Amino acid sequence: MIRLSKCAVSEKEIAAVNSVLNNEYLGMGPEVQAFEQELQSFLGGQVGVACVCNGTAALQLALQAAGVGTGDEVLLPTLTYLASFQAVSALGATPVACDVNEADGLLSLQEAEKCVNQRSKAIMPVHYTGNAGDLTAVYGFAKKYNLRVIEDAAHAFGGLYQDKLIGSFGDIACFSFDGIKNITSGEGGAIVSSDQALISKIKDLRLLGVEKDSEQRYVKQRSWDFDVKAQGWRYHMSDIMAAIGRVQLRRFSDEFAPQRIALMNHYRESLAVIDGIKLFSIGDKNKIVPHIMPIKVAASQRDALREYLLQKEVQVGIHYKPNHLLTKYAKPGLTLPIAEKLYAGILTLPLHVDLTLAQADEVVGYIKKFMEVSS
Ligand SMILES: *Cc1c(COP(=O)(O)O)cnc(C)c1O
Repeated sequence: MIRLSKCAVSEKEIAAVNSVLNNEYLGMGPEVQAFEQELQSFLGGQVGVACVCNGTAALQLALQAAGVGTGDEVLLPTLTYLASFQAVSALGATPVACDVNEADGLLSLQEAEKCVNQRSKAIMPVHYTGNAGDLTAVYGFAKKYNLRVIEDAAHAFGGLYQDKLIGSFGDIACFSFDGIKNITSGEGGAIVSSDQALISKIKDLRLLGVEKDSEQRYVKQRSWDFDVKAQGWRYHMSDIMAAIGRVQLRRFSDEFAPQRIALMNHYRESLAVIDGIKLFSIGDKNKIVPHIMPIKVAASQRDALREYLLQKEVQVGIHYKPNHLLTKYAKPGLTLPIAEKLYAGILTLPLHVDLTLAQADEVVGYIKKFMEVSS
């Protein structure tokens, strides 16, 4: 079976976890602090970093700390993982599903503009596949309408926008370190921002709102006499997770990023010449560190191609079912035609660090054969 996605864990991660277990301090402690410092220096040293239990929690806490709550609206693309929507609705705010661009699958600002009103508090662009699209335009839009920007950068860890690392500039960016993302800490996530007050607030919120408790935890202490002013959550990262994340971060630049980029470029070159296959447009291809490799085929062929690949023991996926089609987020009469059209024709091909170029060729070979026979 050629897997759609998988984590890449070596003896080094196992040794790091073992050493935390041997220390018998498993919760949030010095490993988390070290991981935050290392992420900060990876991102150029300018931004504050708060690590949490997963990417969904990162988005929720970023929104909360940015002041999003009951009655507020957040603009975001419908073509995203359910987590982006749930993070907004968890706070009692309304995620406003917007249509996407057909070419790149990213939030359409023309569509978002139709949804702006007095309740709009924030915009959440999703860097689908790792592509941040025209972030300058997103920030211009946010400025025009006085919105906070929370980048859902779950796909985009390590990618560049105009020669700057995603998360190293802008308002707020959230990463996911779940098992199959560009780096993993088992589960996990991080909020990064140049707004240091916001990061401090998040560091309290992740520990049930206990003020300044993070400082205590870093040195394996805890607060006994404390105050709480806000609704907090148990969303901190553990030392076991951070130990995995620290090793993955060290492997990222030389090992993970080049392999993901090589696979994407190889796929794109060999798929581009197959009739009936379309690719999502991306910016400068060497600047993206891709998380997934979706392709577009005719809706009439998609399910048959999917079946055919499964038969050949190639796992495929569909990223994503548009969220406005879910009962929880549906609105009477709301159709978002581009996202719905894309949804009918997308198929995600295997992409992970342990996939070889030869295996990618095998996948492309099956697709080519299928398209020849079925056209
Ligand atoms: C993975 C992901 C998330 C959530 O991250 P978790 O760590 O799984 O909670 C949010 N948004 C997108 C687009 C994702 O792919």
